[in-house]
Amino acid sequence: MIIKYGLQPLLIIAVLGAWFFNQTTVLTYPAILLLVQVLLNLLEYWRPLRPHWRHSWREKLGLVGVYVAVFGFSAAVVAPLYTVSLDPILVAARAALHINIWPTQWPILMQVLLAFFLSEFIWYWFHRAEHRWRLLWRLSGHGAHHSFKHLGAVNAGANHPLEMFILLVPSAIVELLFGGGLAVAGAAVLILTQASIAHANIDLNHRVIGWLFTTNRYHIHHHSSVMAQSNTNYGCAAILWDRVFGTFAEADTLEAGIGPTEPTLLQKLMMPLREPDDARISPGLSTGRAAR
Ligand SMILES: [Zn+2]
Repeated sequence: MIIKYGLQPLLIIAVLGAWFFNQTTVLTYPAILLLVQVLLNLLEYWRPLRPHWRHSWREKLGLVGVYVAVFGFSAAVVAPLYTVSLDPILVAARAALHINIWPTQWPILMQVLLAFFLSEFIWYWFHRAEHRWRLLWRLSGHGAHHSFKHLGAVNAGANHPLEMFILLVPSAIVELLFGGGLAVAGAAVLILTQASIAHANIDLNHRVIGWLFTTNRYHIHHHSSVMAQSNTNYGCAAILWDRVFGTFAEADTLEAGIGPTEPTLLQKLMMPLREPDDARISPGLSTGRAAR
């Protein structure tokens, strides 16, 4: 009962508090992420919502490997590339357009929530576009993230390396174009925590907190192997924008994945070039409701 109703709100408060008191310590970020993942993985092992989704140790190790590799790739390749390309453009655009609207006088936690919902607003449209346009779906490798049949908290980091070029754009825009500064770091901690919870295989409440924040019930529905269900709930951390723009759905999910079978790791990596023959979730293959 406490886990079902208390886990998500308590984790949100705990990570924001932990960040607030340790904002300038570099280790704060990996430490929070690691603790959130360990806690959720223990709960998934102890009380899985879908017992048949429980990862074997081999699967879990593979997913952790992907998680570490993708985050390492982001730190080693994507972030430095941003530093010399996108970041200066955003800073120059902010100066040219005289954008001085960030409410720096607000309490920092209010700024974090603003950065959170603003980042999620931008991500909502990127994500919706990935599901709408086949070219973007393929170039971003988003299908690889959807290809897992059994989800758990660790799937939050199971993205195609190419997708990292898009996943970091919303935070960069809020930080450098809108001048969000340090608040963006707090928002990033909240986004990553929320993304972990959203994939977790645990029985969690979705009412009230689900008015604004994405719950695992909503996000697992987005991972459905039914195209019409997959084209809903684009907000991975905030569900607010799906409610505002009419893509919110709340229903049971029978099966996750892009088709009846899960591709191998190599097939997942190759998905920008070639999709598995039995893929049912991909823009252009639609047999259900068209992507909106
Ligand atoms: Zn998606």
